[in-house]
Amino acid sequence: MTIELASSPGGIRQRQSRIVAACLRAGYAWSQREARPGAMREIARMTGVVMEAVGPGQGPASPMQLVACLRRPLGELVILAGQEPGGADDAITAAILLDGDSLADAAYDLACEYAQQLTTAAETAAWLPSWTRMRAEQVENAAFSALVESGDKDAYTRARRLIVEYPAGDQEELSRQLIATGARCPVRYAPLSADQQYVTADGSWWWPCPACRWPMTVTGEAVRCRYRPHQAIYQAVPGRTGSPPQLLRTGERVPGSVPQARPAKGAVCVDPGVWRYIVVPGASELRIAKDLQRLGADVKLWPEMDTYDLRVIAGPLDRRLDVKEYRSARRLIDDLSSKPPRAVVLLLKSHEHQADLITAALPSVTVITEILLRRHVRLAARRNP
Ligand SMILES: [Zn+2]
Repeated sequence: MTIELASSPGGIRQRQSRIVAACLRAGYAWSQREARPGAMREIARMTGVVMEAVGPGQGPASPMQLVACLRRPLGELVILAGQEPGGADDAITAAILLDGDSLADAAYDLACEYAQQLTTAAETAAWLPSWTRMRAEQVENAAFSALVESGDKDAYTRARRLIVEYPAGDQEELSRQLIATGARCPVRYAPLSADQQYVTADGSWWWPCPACRWPMTVTGEAVRCRYRPHQAIYQAVPGRTGSPPQLLRTGERVPGSVPQARPAKGAVCVDPGVWRYIVVPGASELRIAKDLQRLGADVKLWPEMDTYDLRVIAGPLDRRLDVKEYRSARRLIDDLSSKPPRAVVLLLKSHEHQADLITAALPSVTVITEILLRRHVRLAARRNP
């Protein structure tokens, strides 16, 4: 039996994780307080979680003080739980969860890596979306458990691919896709939310992110994907009378293909938890699979259901890979040590800098970067055309 001492590195890390998870929920609740009568109660509950984690006489003492903390870098709160040897998780330290009264994008692409069940007593706000209180594997289980239990590997892969390729679209178009692919859809699609629509005199419109195809968030004229590594940031300009609005790229790193506006009437999308935990990683997995296929490899996506992500075969090369796309390297290391991967960990181009950190912390885990994998596949395919 392991006893985690309050001052041990593990104890400090657990308390810091609880603080981030509680702040994520409190931030979401604050952004919804006008629509949700229970929101202030949830923030009060999360204030209790934070107070317990930081200890007496420190940190916020009231819900409004906690909300004020959410507009400042999370590091200021997290540090109160204690200093970890080796320093804090820089990514999470700098994150700010509330932008005015709205949830900032950092919540979607970073803090949700810390989402967790806090205590049974804190699990009472059923309206909290899954991504604020569940880990990725719990959201995946909720979506796919029936398909996994059925043991039908092809049905599993078809369903997963459908969700990743069509996370949003016209209801009728989606029904046609279901029939064409023969996939059973295990998740619910719902009409777009108000912040996914751009309203003009001619109606309401939405734009799919060029990387993940989920509806981008609209704030005034600004249109962006909530997942910042997709770098999809645009400005909407009204079209001429009778024609849809257009997007202009803002910044140099914005992907080249500018999405076209689509009518919001009749459009549906998967919920944010499914988007963040299944669609966002799935879009990267599909992109890598297509890229390696172009290089001559045979690539199978999600071959053993929940075991790993990609199997890549090219000549003598046969690799099972688990794609990891964490913003927080610290969190990734924690997750890999509590649940060792059953395949080689593949880091995307955007995450290659994490390779040395992971190898240093977990020498038993095999890590490969996207660039190195491409090189291996190209060589193997050339040797064995
Ligand atoms: Zn995106």
